[in-house]
Amino acid sequence: MSSPSQNTLKIGIIGFGPFAQFLAKTMVKQGHSIRATSRSDYTDLCTHLGILFFRDMIAFLESNNDVILLCTSILSVSQVIESISFHALKQPVLFADVLSVKEYPRDLLLQVVPQDSDVLCTHPMFGPESGKDGWKDLTFMFDRVRIRNEVTCSSFLQIFASEGCRMMEMSCEEHDKLAAKSQFLTHTIGRVLSEVEVEPTSIDTKGFQKLVQVKESATRDTFDLFSGLFIYNRFARQQLNNLELALESVKQQLIKRMNEELDQSIYTPYN
Ligand code: NAP
Repeated sequence: MSSPSQNTLKIGIIGFGPFAQFLAKTMVKQGHSIRATSRSDYTDLCTHLGILFFRDMIAFLESNNDVILLCTSILSVSQVIESISFHALKQPVLFADVLSVKEYPRDLLLQVVPQDSDVLCTHPMFGPESGKDGWKDLTFMFDRVRIRNEVTCSSFLQIFASEGCRMMEMSCEEHDKLAAKSQFLTHTIGRVLSEVEVEPTSIDTKGFQKLVQVKESATRDTFDLFSGLFIYNRFARQQLNNLELALESVKQQLIKRMNEELDQSIYTPYN
């Protein structure tokens, strides 16, 4: 890996969907040279953003990237990694990813990335909606899984640090444990609220308005993303079970209390 000049990096993005486009705009603004490749053709959009788009993966890999950033969906990442011809790389590279689960891409990358290249697993804990007015105070999780070229790794992390992100270094395992309890839970509640067709009413409380927001933000993300959070985070299944048990427990507490209450009352609410 060569050392990037004056902290500007050549960053090749694989998977140019909504999240990659969102990240790329800030990277371009910071002066980095961005290249991209994707399953779909983003030539026109990339031209507009000042990004070089490659339809051909080999040409993309040969374009002397300092960093190759995986931004594909969780469900497709294994297939996408398989399609990378690592022999086409002309120099060692920092492979980084932004997937919302972390042990899974770490394990895949460690299996295939050449020994002289580095691996950095990251998860920006924000997206196009929460980060639309800037990234200040938004959390950026990272795990320096296999880093020898400190200069390139630091320059890449600096992209987020310099925007004011709260930089959180932790292991991929710790991330997945915490994300199952926080992000996956939020998405699941949002999807459940959508199933019960939660909509604003004329007498909304502040609490209910927040629930509507949770529903809207969860359903704005793709179902692929939500399923990826479940399938490829080994801690998510337990969280889903806990939620199911908790709902049943709350229901039982209510029914018990109702029966106690009504035993002493002359009022019969239900027929
Ligand atoms: P997404 O639906 O998770 O991923 C879309 C990307 O995956 C597109 O680049 C798409 O390529 C590619 N893709 C999907 N199926 C594919 C397949 N079969 N073969 C090859 N490529 C395929 O939506 P996203 O919001 O852009 O998220 C991208 C990644 O960022 C995900 O891993 C997600 O976990 C992570 N992330 C997202 C957010 C967020 O707020 N959205 C925040 C943090 C991290 P084409 O566009 O070319 O079809």
